[in-house]
Amino acid sequence: MSTEISQSKGVYISTYGCQMNVNDTERMYSLLEMINYAPVPSPDQADLIIINSCSVREKPVHKVHSEVGRYKGLKTQKPQLKIGVGGCVAQQEKKQLLTDVPLLDFVFGTDAIDSLPSLVQDLEQGEQKKVDAKFRHSEPYHVQTLVKNPGVSTFVNITKGCDNFCTFCVVPFTRGRERSRPLKHLIEDINSLTKRGVREVTLLGQNVNSYKSDCGANFGELMRAVAVDTDIERIRFTTSHPKDFNEELVGIMQDHRDKIMDYIHLPVQSGSSEVLERMNRGYTREEYIRKAKMILEIMPGAALSSDIIVGFPGESEKQFEETMSLLEEVPYESIFSFKYSPRPFTKAARWEDHVSEEEKSRRLTALQSRHKEIAFELSKRYRDSVVDVLVEVFDEESGRCSGRSTQNKLTHFNGRKEMIGGTYKVKVNEAFPQTLRGVLFEH
Ligand code: SF4
Repeated sequence: MSTEISQSKGVYISTYGCQMNVNDTERMYSLLEMINYAPVPSPDQADLIIINSCSVREKPVHKVHSEVGRYKGLKTQKPQLKIGVGGCVAQQEKKQLLTDVPLLDFVFGTDAIDSLPSLVQDLEQGEQKKVDAKFRHSEPYHVQTLVKNPGVSTFVNITKGCDNFCTFCVVPFTRGRERSRPLKHLIEDINSLTKRGVREVTLLGQNVNSYKSDCGANFGELMRAVAVDTDIERIRFTTSHPKDFNEELVGIMQDHRDKIMDYIHLPVQSGSSEVLERMNRGYTREEYIRKAKMILEIMPGAALSSDIIVGFPGESEKQFEETMSLLEEVPYESIFSFKYSPRPFTKAARWEDHVSEEEKSRRLTALQSRHKEIAFELSKRYRDSVVDVLVEVFDEESGRCSGRSTQNKLTHFNGRKEMIGGTYKVKVNEAFPQTLRGVLFEH
């Protein structure tokens, strides 16, 4: 990398998709800062524009195409402007994207983020149309969290990729085989974030509970080590897979409940064992329900949430009703529900899609409206209770502090700016499905 000191250039990154991409964008900004690029708030101020793309969308290539098209005028005014695409569409399309979107200067895949500075420098030195979309499956996954202003709560990647090949999911094709960061590195990383004022970390991966360190530690052992060997106050994680959730892991969570938060996102996807089998999820409805009950027995009062897909190819009315009835068996405080739509490369995309769009919409509405009632009922348990809230923001105008309870409820109460970063007891007087309002219980 060049050591020459020059006036900084501007980089604008447009981010789509999941938390993994948001984290990757933070990393890109930090890496590009090393070669003198500073973030700018709008594309017209940029010397470098990057689209961090997502393929979990309708017509993802088309979306890239139309965003790049919007920069055509900028490119004419400023011919030295470089435009690149990263993320899952880049990984999926590779050099084809340069042909399909001629205005693009470079394409880099999900494993090539750390090569971004040298790729940009090559372009600055006159190289053209660069592509780096190779998976580095055999390289160890050693990345330090790079985030400029980490704030009170931040995400820490622990695994990358996925080996599960659920038949609806594109992740194994866009993020590659699963790899885990060594436990020792993670502890060092979290300790250094704590020194920078971070109070809460969310351990991030496509399937965190299949984590396996090079020293043999599993996810439970990692969480115990983070709880014991770091000064972090709160530990969260996302996303876990029901098939890898076991009593040992829940026991560790309960033993360290002062630090490991009692909120578990446990994506079920469907309440029908037949659909789950076609999805290749690795568990049945009954096994899932047993696990959810086991979690709530070992960790009473914990909050559960889930992801649900309706209208998976071949999902019958009866199978959909099994998903509806699952809501009555597992007390989800929130759900993220979607209509099935095919993703490139996946097995399910090759199957005939038997459920009409109209029917998918009807099922989604039915599911969401029943869940709304359930979530409202479940939220009542928080009324008049006292919750611990880690304050993340203060709004000067309203004098309101906001943060999350241990069960991940966004909680508001009147407070002061200096409270940011502190954990306070809040007496809840109004409880809604996703938010709580209360008053400071202890000063
Ligand atoms: S476990 Fe999650 S990330 Fe992996 S294939 Fe299944 S849905 Fe996708």
